[in-house]
Amino acid sequence: MTSQSVPHLVAGTQSNYTVAKFGGTSVADFTAMNRCSDIICADSSVRIVTLSASAGVTNHLVELCNANLSPAQRQQHIDGVVAIQQAILAELTLDADLASGFNDTLNAFIQLASQVLTSSALHDELLSFGERLSSYLFTQVLRLKGLNAVRFDVRQVLKTDSQFGKATPNVAATAQAAQTLLIPKLAEQVIVTQGFIGSDAAGQTTTLGRGGSDYSAALLAEAINAKSVHIWTDVVGIFSTDPRLCSKATPIARLSFDEAAEMATFGAKVLHPATILPASRSHINVFVGSSREPQRGGTWIEREKTQQPGIRAVTQRKNQILLTLKSPEMLLASGFLARVFTILSEFNISVDLVTTSEISVAITLDNAANASRPELDQGCLDKLAEFCHVSVENNLTLVALIGSEIQLRQHEMNLMQVLSDFNIRLICHGASKHNLCFLVEQSESDNVVQAIHSRLLESDYAA
Ligand code: ADP
Ligand code: ASP
Ligand code: MG
Repeated sequence: MTSQSVPHLVAGTQSNYTVAKFGGTSVADFTAMNRCSDIICADSSVRIVTLSASAGVTNHLVELCNANLSPAQRQQHIDGVVAIQQAILAELTLDADLASGFNDTLNAFIQLASQVLTSSALHDELLSFGERLSSYLFTQVLRLKGLNAVRFDVRQVLKTDSQFGKATPNVAATAQAAQTLLIPKLAEQVIVTQGFIGSDAAGQTTTLGRGGSDYSAALLAEAINAKSVHIWTDVVGIFSTDPRLCSKATPIARLSFDEAAEMATFGAKVLHPATILPASRSHINVFVGSSREPQRGGTWIEREKTQQPGIRAVTQRKNQILLTLKSPEMLLASGFLARVFTILSEFNISVDLVTTSEISVAITLDNAANASRPELDQGCLDKLAEFCHVSVENNLTLVALIGSEIQLRQHEMNLMQVLSDFNIRLICHGASKHNLCFLVEQSESDNVVQAIHSRLLESDYAA
């Protein structure tokens, strides 16, 4: 993720608009969509609605990208997608403009999904259908509530490079397209559009990676100069840890951009890792709440909140790789690390944590499904092996304590007691005051998170 500027945005020109994003469970069926429409009706600042695919649809689409499916398996996944759409459609009568677009899109999906697709460009085209379909249906749900809702194909505006599966947005091109194609509509209409998808310079469909609709919403908010982005999901905000893992996790009322960005980066699935980037650089407040229980409030992520020092949350990111490179030559030698990092960058491998000793360096790499570069190339390992001993460990989890001004001293006793029960592979602290990270065996990581939460974040112990 490179830092990008948005040319047309000038300080002081922020609009009063809100972009509202609804995730997969929020648009899973007609009842859920109906709840979301009430949220939009209650807030006239919402002018762009960014939707995910209905829950389960993208998983079917991912399966359909697998070239080894039997015809029966393929049909099963196609039927799965169609059934989810039909169940919603059964509760609605689409206006003529939406009906023809919806039918064409559904037919195009069935046609493409029936083929064995081997190119990543076609995979992205196939993956885009979930959001393309849900946005037709949701537009009609909003019209039933009397809103002047119009479906808009986000690929006209959300411009990206051609890295299929994990495209990088072109912020300037997106802002420019939004200026002509979106902003003029916002005074009169509620625009219903898709998260997760975009298009490259050649007009080919791209996707931003799993969970990317949060990121889309923040990018669109930036492109229209919105004041806030509301992420409506299935939890009442960002919690001190994943509430599915820890029943005593509690929602956090306020987070700074830095803390929220670290949480998202280090595995809190509730936000796509890049979501905070546009919000932070363009001063857009982010709210996270539950579309099922909007009255319960949620988490506000804002700029310039002076946070109490301390640990606020614990996250985990599974499927990490630990690469240990050892060379006696490193002792008193200069240039070893430079050589290592040059090779890693040649192979486009992004490094997470780094620790060094006199003769070795340990590096963690993200191998998770939505990581920027999932595979560790054999070519890269061979090149490293030319000048050092290389060892690769898989099945590790990166656990991160997130907060403000985290000082190990304050938590040392509690933390060391918790960690002494587990096999800790690496600890990293110091580069950022917002996190303290370590690697553990994946099979133990849920227990580690629960133990840390209980010891450091539940009221009896928390600092
Ligand atoms: P959506 O489909 O709305 O985008 P996601 O499933 O992507 O929803 O994200 C919401 C889920 O994130 C929650 O159901 C929860 O299990 C998980 N999650 C992980 N860490 C956290 C956290 N720290 N706070 C809240 N939710 C979290
Ligand atoms: N539908 C996509 C996914 O399931 C994007 C998203 O929901 O954010 O990953
Ligand atoms: Mg999500």
